[in-house]
Amino acid sequence: MAIDDGWKAEVRAAEVLKQFQITDLPVDPFAIARERSIELQENPSLASGVSGCLMKVGDVFGIMYSSKFSSEGFKRFTVAHELGHYFLDGHVQHLFTGGQYLHQSESGFMSKNPYEREADAFAAAMLMPKALFRAASAKAGDGLDAITYLAETCGTSLTATSIRYAKLSDSPLAVVCSSGDKNHFAVMSEPLRARPDLTWIRKGTGLSAQCPTAKFNRDTSNVLNARRESSTANLGDWFTGGDGDVNEEIVGLGEYGRTLTVLWADDLPDPAENEDALENEDEMLLPSERFYRKSRYEM
Ligand SMILES: [Zn+2]
Repeated sequence: MAIDDGWKAEVRAAEVLKQFQITDLPVDPFAIARERSIELQENPSLASGVSGCLMKVGDVFGIMYSSKFSSEGFKRFTVAHELGHYFLDGHVQHLFTGGQYLHQSESGFMSKNPYEREADAFAAAMLMPKALFRAASAKAGDGLDAITYLAETCGTSLTATSIRYAKLSDSPLAVVCSSGDKNHFAVMSEPLRARPDLTWIRKGTGLSAQCPTAKFNRDTSNVLNARRESSTANLGDWFTGGDGDVNEEIVGLGEYGRTLTVLWADDLPDPAENEDALENEDEMLLPSERFYRKSRYEM
């Protein structure tokens, strides 16, 4: 069966919220599990990289969630992810075939497994429902301030909230999760993705040495102590073909050992102003690279 990690999860999460008559933030995934008589247990001994588990014995379901991280937002997202496996069409059949009774979920938003991705999408949609999230965003401010406010309002982690915020934003904005000089993943808002003059920030690539995030990451105490910093960066530090200033707001994610960067601007220069620079750069690329860039713009 083909799995789409986006719209089906949104629709199913909305159905569940309606069924439980939930119309306010924060949404309580623990209460939803209890309503369905799903056993809940916090577990200190789950393997690293495993955020939680869904168990099925006969018709009885249980959810275990790791206590390795102290963040309530992380635990709530984990329980919501497991509820995704429980509520989404086809998941229970797929996960518990051949006598399996335990499914272990990967943490960190980086799984390539379509079932894991769909359960993450469900968790985001359930804890941060589009309409309620957008209404809260209207009074949340900008950039990292907005994400912090929404994380408190929704009871979600900064990382999960920032991903949702970027996906739903109508402004040019990107969030990047990094450690050291490596970018682990990035999510760009639609207005940024639609710009023909900017390359996309690619997962696994290095950070530009001069960008404020790379400097911030060189001192690990910044990350561990959850320090926060606001700077201005040049678009060109992050996007090939970019020119102009962007706000670069940075926060250390403490025990996760990672850094969250929010790049945003009220407005960016017109793409046409960057066209000359882009054409000149194209002359220096190999034909395969030119094709790669072109095809990416047309995606
Ligand atoms: Zn899972």
